[in-house]
This record gives sequence, structure tokens and C-alpha cells, in this order.
Amino acid sequence: MNTLDDRYTTPKESLETYIDLVRFGEDTQVLDSRQVDRLFERGQADPDHAQTVLGWGKELREAIHDVFRALIDKCPVPRAALARLNAYIQGASGHMRLAPVKGGFAWNYDDADELESVLWPIARSAAELLASDQLSYVRACFSKTCEWFFLDTSKNHQRRWCDMTRCGNRAKVRNFYARQKNNY
Ligand SMILES: [Zn+2]
Repeated sequence: MNTLDDRYTTPKESLETYIDLVRFGEDTQVLDSRQVDRLFERGQADPDHAQTVLGWGKELREAIHDVFRALIDKCPVPRAALARLNAYIQGASGHMRLAPVKGGFAWNYDDADELESVLWPIARSAAELLASDQLSYVRACFSKTCEWFFLDTSKNHQRRWCDMTRCGNRAKVRNFYARQKNNY
């Protein structure tokens, strides 16, 4: 959701190419390094399809965003967004399979080399969060100039900023200057 920054003012797109989408999968650890390498190659070999998948990635992001935005604002969830998200979840589910791992099984995907495979764990991760008891810990950043969402995994669930270095420090600096000003 945060890959479109400043979405209500001057939107800055971080997903400009299919490679950016794969990098997002790498950074968020929903893709393993072997898959990242394969998708890089495949994306270069089929740029038209890669561009289409990038469009789907943004559509999925916006559907996820609209659902979470409504939940945070305590508004009814837009049906169209939920329907779109469900379509991506169903698409992902069709590729899920159980794979034996040491001592048990893990969820895995078939066709992990397909360009759209980058979308499956993202859709599934959103679905799992929405259907979990963690949902109430999804927050919007406290900063008025930031529209990022975050999952508050802190012990007391009192985190207010998306990221301490990004927004927490900015708020601290502002408070510092406000105090200084009041002293004059
Ligand atoms: Zn923030």
C-alpha cells in the first residue's frame, strides 16, 4: 500500500517497472532469491507481459489499499475493491500447494517462474492479515503528512508512526523547534 507515496497530494510511484515489483517482493521477503533471479530474467525476456503484470500489481495494491483505508476510517468496505482483491486471492489459491518440508509441510506455489507469481504471495498475505486477529493493529501513520500504513507489532500496541526513522524523527524534530520557538 505504501508503494504509492503521498497518494493524496503529489503521488510518487515506486512501482515504475516490473523489476520494481519484483524488488518489492524481495524486500518484503515474499519471494526467495532464486525466484527473484528467475523473474528478473523472465521479465526482460517478455517485457510486454511484464508491463501487464505490473498493471495488475498496481490494481491489486489499490484494492488492498481501499479495503484497509475503509477499515481504518471505519467506513463500509467498498464492494468493488473487495471483489477485485478476492479475484486476486482466488487466482493465487489456484497455484497454492502443500510441499513437504522437514518434519511437516509448507504452503508453496506451482509455476513460481510465471511473471504473475510475484502477485500471489502478496494477495495471500493481505488475505491472511484481513482474516486474522492482527487486523486491529493495522494503523495509519500518526504524521499528518504521511499516508503510510503499518502493522503495529509492538508489545503494547501503541506505535504511532509508520517508521521511527521516516516519521518518528521528523515529529521529534518538529516538536523540538516548536519548543524552541515558544522560548523566544
Ligand atoms: Zn509515517
